[in-house]
Amino acid sequence: MFKIIVEKSPKSQIIMPRFLANFIPSKFFNLFSGSSSDNDNVHENVDGISIENIVNGIKNRKYDHIIFMCGAGISTCMFKIVFYLIQLIITAGIPDFRSPKTGLFHQLEKYNLPYPEAVFDVQFFSSNPKPFYHLAKNLLPDKFKATPCHYFMRLIHDKNQMLRLYTQNIDSLERIAGIPADKLVEAHGSFHTGHCINKECRKEYSFESMKKIVLDNDREDNVVYCEDCGSYVKPDIIFYGEVLPERFYRLYQRDFINCDLLIIMGTSLTVQPFASLVELVGPHIPRLMINKTRPSSGHFSRNNRDVFIKSETDSACLELAEKLGWRDELEKLINSDDSDNKT
Ligand SMILES: [Zn+2]
Repeated sequence: MFKIIVEKSPKSQIIMPRFLANFIPSKFFNLFSGSSSDNDNVHENVDGISIENIVNGIKNRKYDHIIFMCGAGISTCMFKIVFYLIQLIITAGIPDFRSPKTGLFHQLEKYNLPYPEAVFDVQFFSSNPKPFYHLAKNLLPDKFKATPCHYFMRLIHDKNQMLRLYTQNIDSLERIAGIPADKLVEAHGSFHTGHCINKECRKEYSFESMKKIVLDNDREDNVVYCEDCGSYVKPDIIFYGEVLPERFYRLYQRDFINCDLLIIMGTSLTVQPFASLVELVGPHIPRLMINKTRPSSGHFSRNNRDVFIKSETDSACLELAEKLGWRDELEKLINSDDSDNKT
């Protein structure tokens, strides 16, 4: 069975600085006129297919089995930090783990972790969930807000043109944007629910009930205990040592052969087996990738069915909506956002 593996990269390529960039307001640039002051921020219009072809294909309903694949780049700040810290731990190891710059992890030293990854290791969690809940308390946002990019995907769903949305993110923002659960494959699980780790019990807990405990400042620790059996409760995010959800394996084989347009957003395709999914669509199916950096692996190339847009996903989705004549509809959805109260 597949497990989550983050491809190792040399230290010089560690992506820690990238999340810091999220705190810097991004420049607005026009993707389609190429009028950016930053020459790097242009979309690549290859011979075989262009962004205009893709836009027309969506508009004319040539594409009505669209699959989205999403990564941390579409997520909110706090979850980007979680995601990148996880990758940092794996790629950088102990020195950065103890660096003053990552003070939060420094705090975890008091738990005497046998190795940094233990925070997210299911075996370790079963014996000591305190470090994980310590992190969760510090990193979980109190409120959740879906992004324009999430609402763009919701619009594709509302037009009955979405086959499925595969996400690596654990923040449930796709659900908050109103995309129904049957359209989602949360490949790395989500915080939406949690379960008691006692195999005899497995009582389910909502995010709301876990959050109340995790964020409670009056508790000595913020571990969630099962109210029926007293065992630990673990959010349904996929830890090291766990296989991906059964739903992922059940759906990807039949979904990707039926896909007529693949849109990849906010991921550099570094985490397997998720990254390899892009290979499963038919050889002539167009693949549009929107990301701030080029894919680091060979899963996406400049052949005549691939289009790469180097951009923040939100601004690219707003531009796409403009091109599609959906800008008003998209803004209406964004403005109707009451997601703060939904989770
Ligand atoms: Zn229980």
